[in-house]
Amino acid sequence: MRVKKSLLQFAVAAGFVAWSTPLFAQEAPAQSSTHVFSETPTSRDPAAALANRGNDSSARQQTTLDPAAATQAWLDSVPKDERERSDAYFEGGYWLLLWNYLVAAAISILLLSSRISAQLRDFSERLTRFKTLQVACYSVPYLLLVYVLSFPLNVYEHFFREHQYGLATQTFPAWFREQLIGLGITIVGGTILLIVLYAVFRLALTACWIWGTIVAVVFSFVLLFITPVFIEPLFNTYKPLTNAEISESILAMARANQIPVKQVFEVDASRQTTRVSANVSGILGTTRIALNDNLLKQCTLPEIREVMAHEMGHYVLNHGAKLLTYLGISIFVGFALARILFDAALSRWGERWGVRGIADPAGLPVLALILSTLLFLATPLLNTVVRVTEREADAFGINTSREPDGMAKVALKLGTYRKLNPTPLEEFIFYDHPSGRARIRMAMDWKAANLPPGESGTTENGLSLKNY
Ligand SMILES: [Zn+2]
Repeated sequence: MRVKKSLLQFAVAAGFVAWSTPLFAQEAPAQSSTHVFSETPTSRDPAAALANRGNDSSARQQTTLDPAAATQAWLDSVPKDERERSDAYFEGGYWLLLWNYLVAAAISILLLSSRISAQLRDFSERLTRFKTLQVACYSVPYLLLVYVLSFPLNVYEHFFREHQYGLATQTFPAWFREQLIGLGITIVGGTILLIVLYAVFRLALTACWIWGTIVAVVFSFVLLFITPVFIEPLFNTYKPLTNAEISESILAMARANQIPVKQVFEVDASRQTTRVSANVSGILGTTRIALNDNLLKQCTLPEIREVMAHEMGHYVLNHGAKLLTYLGISIFVGFALARILFDAALSRWGERWGVRGIADPAGLPVLALILSTLLFLATPLLNTVVRVTEREADAFGINTSREPDGMAKVALKLGTYRKLNPTPLEEFIFYDHPSGRARIRMAMDWKAANLPPGESGTTENGLSLKNY
């Protein structure tokens, strides 16, 4: 999601460990094939061809399915050119990770070694004697400068490259307009954050990383809370889903899982992209589960049910609070390391850069450089933390929707932008969601397990409820 990208850029630019909880970002893109609803698994499914369905009407339906072979059959159903295209797109993302880091690092080093940062601080001190206003006077031009200097890579990555792979639907003016909105949010939000953070740095020099962590976590929480209410509407329209067949099917799953929602939201994501997605955003009272119009257009009802059940998994498994906790721990470690590295850098280059200390806004690029380096190095760890929660939501999704073929088909659709069959090392380092192969395997394992329906009289076997 655009907002998340700009916030992440800000976070890196401003130097805060904000691996913006991808749970709240979009789930996934897809190809532009069209399907009709109410499709059920048919003989066209590769997995169905492998399943030898028994005809014993006296017992529940028996299916012998080899999960490994069924998974391979699904993967083999993707044409070679499509596979090569999505592999190229996703592998390009590995390099973009590096380029983004190098550009951010180069900008920080440029601002420091040219003493632009120090001059900006001197300028703000001449404008006003109030420390708070000095931080604001530094922050606004700093964030603008970072945006402008990283614009070439930004426009390549988020506009030209997306069009090149057929994933974007926006003209340049429409895209740029949203960039400006995102920049506005970044400048306002970033300046508020920096004002509070530098106040804390001035007051608590010795324990500044502890207070800095508290400020960053509170800020993240507020951001999550207001996102569905104030930020998302700036980019997209959210309206109740009108198709009764789909919404009732989704609401039934919600009711079965004690999710207090009365309506399902549809978001007009096709304004920006062809990707299929759904998302959970907000926290506490603002939590909202929404599916996008591409999902509605491109997916069958079983697929939609599976995706929405996955999103419900994030809600039921309390992933918002869990990821916020992990974020807090990461920020704490990041700030503690940054404090040590900051002092080391300053004792060596402080004079040359004109930076006086941690409470001096001119040191912001030093902090940004250190934190973006730590963030870059921690990529596999952070991706793994998020991927594990995604896998949990997948398990919840398959058990709730009971749509293994729907899950496999969605995994293939998401495969238009995410490499379907990576090596284990690749998945560990780069994947913030399970790969298509892992997801299809989970679906086929579930299908092969032939779970019996409940209340069959055989599973409980007269055990009393106290055994729960
Ligand atoms: Zn998810």
